[in-house]
Amino acid sequence: MTAPLRTEAPKRRHYDVVIVGGAMMGSSTAWFLSHAPDFDGTILVVERDPRYEFCSTAHTNSCIRQQFSTELNVRISQFGAEFIQNLRRFMGGDTRVPELRIQNFGYLYLADSPAAADRLRASHAVQVAAGAGTRLLTADQIRAEYPFYRLDDILLGSINTVDEGYWDGIAVFDWFRRQAREAGVEYCANEVVGLARQGGRIDSVTLASGEVVSCGTVVNCAGPRAAGVAALAGIDLPVEPRKRFTWIFSAQTPLDRPLPLTIDPSGVHVRQDGAQTYMTGGHAEMDPAVDPADFAMDLSLWEDLIWPALAHRIPQFEAIRVLREWAGHYAYNTLDQNAVAGPHPEIGNFLFLNGFSGHGLQQSPAMGRATAEWICHRAYRTLDLTPFHFDRVLTGTPYREAAII
Ligand SMILES: Cc1cc2nc3c(=O)[nH]c(=O)nc-3n(C[C@H](O)[C@H](O)[C@H](O)COP(=O)(O)OP(=O)(O)OC[C@H]3O[C@@H](n4cnc5c(N)ncnc54)[C@H](O)[C@@H]3O)c2cc1C
Repeated sequence: MTAPLRTEAPKRRHYDVVIVGGAMMGSSTAWFLSHAPDFDGTILVVERDPRYEFCSTAHTNSCIRQQFSTELNVRISQFGAEFIQNLRRFMGGDTRVPELRIQNFGYLYLADSPAAADRLRASHAVQVAAGAGTRLLTADQIRAEYPFYRLDDILLGSINTVDEGYWDGIAVFDWFRRQAREAGVEYCANEVVGLARQGGRIDSVTLASGEVVSCGTVVNCAGPRAAGVAALAGIDLPVEPRKRFTWIFSAQTPLDRPLPLTIDPSGVHVRQDGAQTYMTGGHAEMDPAVDPADFAMDLSLWEDLIWPALAHRIPQFEAIRVLREWAGHYAYNTLDQNAVAGPHPEIGNFLFLNGFSGHGLQQSPAMGRATAEWICHRAYRTLDLTPFHFDRVLTGTPYREAAII
């Protein structure tokens, strides 16, 4: 159940930039923009859930990988890894900011059919060309490194233990917000309920409490609710809330070495969590859009899918005990499972940062940086995100990411 809305009034009547949603994407954008040498404008972040209880960011599994099928996503994660591991330097050497590292247990994708193996080979070529350390392994090679797997049905695996694994996403989120606020960004507990469009621009934003603020640019960072915010401007955005379930469990006989984030052909994924605990996740075959306020667990999923898949792949996981579980939402882009970023082609001051389909936490540094560049220069200065622009939605031309977990 969503908590009743607590509203605050914004301090001004006009802001150069209004960001709708203050979780990972909204706060990354606010941080990069407020620290951009070429920007000295005013920024308002409007957040309907200021305790961040219900956002995707609060339900994430907080991992980063280089194993994507599109080069742009590899490059985005490369910057993500650089940013995470040099957080304090990026944040001006502020000694309050922690030094973070990535727990490089790696992701291991398993293929059980020739077609799936071909997909791993194709993605491997893209990743290696972009400088990632991905290795293809036969079942025997996997067994030699990780003897605990059952692999009789596996043809090929793909693993990378460089800049792949868990990182402390919440620490980065906290510091984005803290430093953005210190740089003058105003966070306001409120909900955007209206966007007034005048021809090719958004003129003003209406808040649930009734205030109307005029704006130079609006950035949609509303996560699984992004389509609702886009609809306020008359835009049809193909992003849906899709439920994703997570369980933390312990094993009667823990594994003798760190477990990579293993993507099983069944769709179930599992990884090391604590020293002796593991995290697993998945979703039902029927995967409809849900209400963004629906966080009910699917009680049959553990018994019917998750536990059997775990016990099949890792026989030691026959004897395990669930410690914690939760449901969260992907902001799922039904067109191509890739981000939608940049300006609307006809409403140039309405920017998207939506549809991350389960890989948005690691993309937040590159996405926030690129959005700040666009606002300052109407052009990208580092990574070119034009393949993610909304134009492809209008023409129905997917820019597909195949490595979706
Ligand atoms: C189970 C799970 C596991 C995941 N694992 C990973 C992972 O390992 N690695 C990874 O990179 N990514 C992962 N993700 C994805 C990642 O968590 C998200 O892509 C990322 O957190 C998205 O951040 P966001 O700011 O776009 O959206 P959100 O975190 O959902 O934030 C959107 C915010 O907008 C606010 N909002 C919405 N509408 C309005 C409005 N009208 N007015 C004001 N405020 C509004 C909401 O309250 C919310 O706080 C996972 C996601 C889930 C659910």
